[in-house]
Amino acid sequence: MFMRVDQLQADLPAPKRADPNAAAALQELLGGKYGEMSTLGNYMFQSFNFRSKEKLKPFYSLVASITAEELGHVELVSNGVAMLNNGPDIPGGDEGDGGDISGAPWEGMKDIRLAAAFLSGGGGAMPVNSNGVSWNNDFITTTGNVVVDLLHNFHLECGARLHKLRVYETLSDPTGREVCGYLLVRGSVHAHAYALALEKITGVDVKKFLPTPNIPLDKVPECQKYLDEGSHRRLYTFSPGDYKEMSGIWGNGEVALPTDPPGELEVVDGMPEGGKIQQLIGVPSAFTPDYAPEEMFEIAEKLYKASR
Ligand code: MN
Ligand code: MN
Repeated sequence: MFMRVDQLQADLPAPKRADPNAAAALQELLGGKYGEMSTLGNYMFQSFNFRSKEKLKPFYSLVASITAEELGHVELVSNGVAMLNNGPDIPGGDEGDGGDISGAPWEGMKDIRLAAAFLSGGGGAMPVNSNGVSWNNDFITTTGNVVVDLLHNFHLECGARLHKLRVYETLSDPTGREVCGYLLVRGSVHAHAYALALEKITGVDVKKFLPTPNIPLDKVPECQKYLDEGSHRRLYTFSPGDYKEMSGIWGNGEVALPTDPPGELEVVDGMPEGGKIQQLIGVPSAFTPDYAPEEMFEIAEKLYKASR
């Protein structure tokens, strides 16, 4: 499987201002119990541990390809957190030195909820929840039983949608809201996919549970363009040739949920088009990437030229 490291899965608008407390709220979607590190960690170990991979290829492919997507979600939320911590990029903000730091230029950070995100993490994202509690491996379920694991994943995706909506409701900034809007649509896809997988094995119409919780995506403005382009009907292989077999579950005449815009479900080779990745301009007074990074920039430029 692959992912592009120069792109995010969705295009995030620039934040209006630095808002480290909003970044702290968004951390819940990264290192919280139902955050992207949990979906990634669960599906990653379940796909590594998957038994009878060849014989169960449609089910294995489904879990493995969603794993790749979740890695991109971890990256997306991380970027959203860092963008909210830092505010809009200031052109030329990383040129020159950090100035007189004896005047406590970051005094305001001492009152921020997740001060460690700045003091230790330099304004980036961390594998913690909104209260700074570490994500941990107890959030991973990998029983080796396909039905139990799929049922767990169905619960995880439904729970994740609930968390995304609550975080959405705490945020006013467009960056954080876009992260939530995109992930709400993709979470719906994953819950639907695990419901269909369970239905194929057990005969139980699990998708009748959906949407759980009953979040009307058409009432969330940030979800609209993703619904319009049919994202709620697509799963991606994240692979040049593998994982197509999941179309036996996601496709094969199956259609969108009645609450979403209609259409057939489809497996798309490759990955979503995605959006630009932020520069995250440095802040010399915080020593990111350093106090006076000019020499580092010069060295990097020489190395770049030598590589061409
Ligand atoms: Mn996700
Ligand atoms: Mn998911």
